[in-house]
Amino acid sequence: MFEKILIANRGEIALRIHRACNEMGILTVAVHSEADATAMHVRLADESVCIGPAPASKSYLNIPAIVSACEITGAQAIHPGYGFLSENARFAEILAAHGYTFIGPRPEHIRVMGDKIAAKRAVQAVGIPVVPGSEGALNSEAEALAAADSIGYPVLIKAAAGGGGRGMKVAQTRDEVAEAYGTARGEAKAAFGDDAVYMERYLARPRHIELQVVADSFGAVCHLGERDCSLQRRHQKMMEEAPSPAIDAEARAKIGKIVVDAVKAIGYLGVGTIEFLYENGEFFFIEMNTRLQVEHPVTEAITGIDLVREQIRIAAGLPLSFTQDEVRFEGHAIECRINAENPRTFMPSPGLVSDFHAPGGLGVRLDSALYAGYSIPPFYDSLAGKLIVHGRDRAEAIARMKRSLAEMVVGGIETTIPLFQDLLRDPDIIEGRYDIHWLERWIKAQG
Ligand code: ADP
Repeated sequence: MFEKILIANRGEIALRIHRACNEMGILTVAVHSEADATAMHVRLADESVCIGPAPASKSYLNIPAIVSACEITGAQAIHPGYGFLSENARFAEILAAHGYTFIGPRPEHIRVMGDKIAAKRAVQAVGIPVVPGSEGALNSEAEALAAADSIGYPVLIKAAAGGGGRGMKVAQTRDEVAEAYGTARGEAKAAFGDDAVYMERYLARPRHIELQVVADSFGAVCHLGERDCSLQRRHQKMMEEAPSPAIDAEARAKIGKIVVDAVKAIGYLGVGTIEFLYENGEFFFIEMNTRLQVEHPVTEAITGIDLVREQIRIAAGLPLSFTQDEVRFEGHAIECRINAENPRTFMPSPGLVSDFHAPGGLGVRLDSALYAGYSIPPFYDSLAGKLIVHGRDRAEAIARMKRSLAEMVVGGIETTIPLFQDLLRDPDIIEGRYDIHWLERWIKAQG
């Protein structure tokens, strides 16, 4: 087992990884930007190294500085968390070339899944159903029009290098295709430096349902059930739950088997998430994430499995610590993303956290790097914490989430806590009746 792991991330996920390492008896190295010198991940880690100025491009994405930090501290392995360098195949290769272990999948799998056109092809070849769409990249307006005509309207134009819901444009009718194509290309170029786009049928009322998988280097692959992440704003997840209110044990076992067989056929290693849109009883693949997800705690809550611990074990060449038959789904878990944002306009609200009180009690978990007196820097994303609750059933989880949100205090900044308090009073949410467009409609209706 590793003696020391460098955590190439910040915020709540850096804490999450530190906690797993600490329980496994592994020392941790935090890296941080100049803006994060007082951050909680720096305080909790066993050692820390400043790797550059505030902008992520100069610090958290600075590969030479991170490799140097490994050399200085003697860390043997690097956990990338999510975001930043977590899906950068080149980073994984550079680490390997320097003799360090990247805690994640093999570079070739990161690369294939990072290109959403290649990813669709790769999973389709191993039996996973995909959203109907264009054969590959669309190279001209004429190709886009022809593809849209054959797919049927409405259509969605998506960036091949996409992520975070960027570079995605809907065309409701033929007249809108040319403009949507141009805008999607432009956005893709600006966000990812790559203007390749493709097209899919735009599903009207699907749910976003994703399967957690985990694979070791001995060929064992297990699925840990699904997460329902349909509550989204601008294609970004806001609240997640497991299990999905829309899936029964039979559907879960069926899609679970398809996914496990596919992951085995690909020869994938580590944890991963296969994302689907689910409509009228059918699953349609949209993408695979080759990393730990923000919403992984809801899966941990219902299975009792520590996903970060499994990641570290797999990277160290150890087998999975469970078999598929041993995976049990107990009760219901919900996660709310507490963002430092105005709950109505969603404008970021960084700054000084004057007061802080964490909710507690049975079945409550708060993953957050906040503390009273901490000043949230304006340079990074607005996720300030994740509140996760677990109950014996969905109704208990909802009651527990309401109670926990009411207990939580974050003074001095605005957060999305009031948004979730309103949402959890809505009959559709209470009944579990929502699709990927529900939250946008609800926000509009609030005025
Ligand atoms: P990203 O990589 O940017 O997150 P995804 O392909 O994962 O993009 O899609 C993000 C979200 O966008 C999905 O969860 C869903 O809400 C919406 N979406 C993606 N593809 C479609 C589609 N074909 N029809 C309708 N909505 C879609």
